[in-house]
Amino acid sequence: MEKFQRLFMPTYAPFEKIFVRGEGCCLFDEDDRRYLDFCAGIATINVGHCHPEVVRAIQKQAGKLMHISNFYLHRPELDLADKLTKEAFPGRLFLCQSGAEANETAIKLARKYFSGTGRAGRYKIITALGSFHGRTLGTIAATGQDSYRSGFEPIPEGFVHIPYNDLEAAAEAVDDETAAVMVEPIQGEGGVIVPDDGYLSRLRELCNNRGILLILDEVQTGFGRTGSLFAFQTEGIEPDILTMAKAFGGGLPLGGALAGEEVAKAFSPGDHATTFGGNPVTTAAANAVLRVIKIEDLLKRSVEMGARLMARLADLAVSFPSLIVGLRGRGLLVGLELNRSGREVVSLCQSNGLLITCVQGKVLRFTPPLTVTEEEIDTAVDILAVTLQELSGG
Ligand SMILES: *Cc1c(COP(=O)(O)O)cnc(C)c1O
Repeated sequence: MEKFQRLFMPTYAPFEKIFVRGEGCCLFDEDDRRYLDFCAGIATINVGHCHPEVVRAIQKQAGKLMHISNFYLHRPELDLADKLTKEAFPGRLFLCQSGAEANETAIKLARKYFSGTGRAGRYKIITALGSFHGRTLGTIAATGQDSYRSGFEPIPEGFVHIPYNDLEAAAEAVDDETAAVMVEPIQGEGGVIVPDDGYLSRLRELCNNRGILLILDEVQTGFGRTGSLFAFQTEGIEPDILTMAKAFGGGLPLGGALAGEEVAKAFSPGDHATTFGGNPVTTAAANAVLRVIKIEDLLKRSVEMGARLMARLADLAVSFPSLIVGLRGRGLLVGLELNRSGREVVSLCQSNGLLITCVQGKVLRFTPPLTVTEEEIDTAVDILAVTLQELSGG
């Protein structure tokens, strides 16, 4: 910790242990102490730590070809684009390294689409209050939370923030300068906020009627996290642009934006690029992730284990009615709202062998690997129960 604090910019306040190994739903520290990992690299390790299929794919690819730039083609990226356009929707892919970059790509593409079709006045992106879209200047502008912007002014213009899950506000916000509406199907960092059924499909309708684009940020909800490969798929709609990252590369940095043909072709060679984008190793890992999700039926597992986690947490809420004030989520993206700061709970849980995160100060967030077992869920909730008991005075 002393070294971390001396040598790194003070952007993080990590748990003091040093982790050396991960397996499935577990992490091990230098003393070989085991932790149940319900953070999973922030909803990233969806297929479990060091899944043998992913490890093998990375090792095999790393031994053959690691990086060549996008001046040249390789097979893993082509296979990945093939699979994704079959599983998500037909269109064209841009690969990058992170969620923020995927969203930057979507924002630039939306603007380019309208400027290229002679409607250059359409540049504004409507996003939701409480949203999170990343940490670059463009994506903090998109993010609907002032705290991420303060101190970093001037912030790029062209973003309008409206209340989440409010269709009337969305309709009112659209004007002649609007290019797109961009939302998360469930707000993760915003406190695991699940909108009403039909919210996305009504937004889709609104965008169709007003001739603007719908961008869905599935960086956190993607790859089975909420029980379908992408959350939009349960609403019977398709976005114009879909962004993804986090679980995409199975732990390697990989992000992507997928857009339908008509929108995607607004980009010409040279308009947008990134050196590492979709390199052979990260895309080989992503291919393995998609294989594992299919072979191990992880979408179904996400639904089933999510239901169990919710049920166990609902029981816990009954035991601690003065502490727990809300429970929500879908699949294995679950939030438990406390009536007090969750920081101490997170820290005590860590010491008790359970890794969870806290969003919006009071919401404990559970995002275990989709491979989590019933026993692991039960153990995690037991650890949380003991922790809450300790906190509420024995
Ligand atoms: C994490 C996250 C991002 C940012 O992804 P990075 O890879 O950290 O840049 C964007 N949108 C959502 C919904 C996220 O959860």
